[in-house]
Amino acid sequence: MLKHICSYGYMVLMLFFLSACASKKKFAETNKIYEKQVEQLAEVIKQPLPTPQHMASAGLPSPGVEGQRKDFEWVGTVNFNMRKPNFVILHHTAQDSIQQTLRTFTLERTQVSAHYIIDKEGKVYQLLNDYLRAWHAGNGRWGSVTDMNSASIGVEMDNNGVEPYTEPQINNLLVLLDTLKANYKIPSENFIGHGDIAPGRKVDPGINFPWKRLAEKGFGLWYDDVLQAPPTTFNPLDGLRILGYDTRNASAAILAFKRHFIPEETTEEWTPFALSVLYNLYIKKTTL
Ligand SMILES: [Zn+2]
Repeated sequence: MLKHICSYGYMVLMLFFLSACASKKKFAETNKIYEKQVEQLAEVIKQPLPTPQHMASAGLPSPGVEGQRKDFEWVGTVNFNMRKPNFVILHHTAQDSIQQTLRTFTLERTQVSAHYIIDKEGKVYQLLNDYLRAWHAGNGRWGSVTDMNSASIGVEMDNNGVEPYTEPQINNLLVLLDTLKANYKIPSENFIGHGDIAPGRKVDPGINFPWKRLAEKGFGLWYDDVLQAPPTTFNPLDGLRILGYDTRNASAAILAFKRHFIPEETTEEWTPFALSVLYNLYIKKTTL
């Protein structure tokens, strides 16, 4: 019996190593490209001065030669560190498997990536350093931030867009978000969805995403149990804009708001309940 258990354990261990090796080998080439690109970016950071191309396009002489310019001098400060991400954008992959998404994010022609993907078993894949800019947000804005990729970390959930999220997946998402929030001091209200920043264009992470559960753990805003009707002077579009929504397309903004907070409402008409929810969140946001 013991012998059987041992050989079974050995087999499981071997399979684990084999699959780990296969995965390492599979992405060995793109891992190498990643490292090379990071080295190139490090070289850019090491450059103290604007690159000659930038200077030239601005009609300025090259700063490369010492003493060439009297109106420009480099004085290195000693007080600085890295810029930090200040938002987390949540997505669903809208793909059928984690392997498909790993492939999508490691093919140059797709031009898309994210910092993390969490598969249905809860395994977290990291694809680039948090300080680097992933290409997950695309065209989108939140409040006055128009370059969401520069300001955020992208987290993709392995989910095809219609299936429910799994428990291990949400549990490990909460652990990851906790780490990111602590590491970069990201405000609670800055945990938002791709559909929030790109209304009319994106819907992820979709109506199955447990936003309320996240908010209870400190990731994202949620409304109170007891609500009050807003005053008649309250303009709902102003409310949406204060929350962060891009209201240039009003119906898209309303639908994005409802998908996040009131998924059971699927029309763009304002119901008394939707108005009370919005007013409650608007008060929270303006008194943060
Ligand atoms: Zn997305």
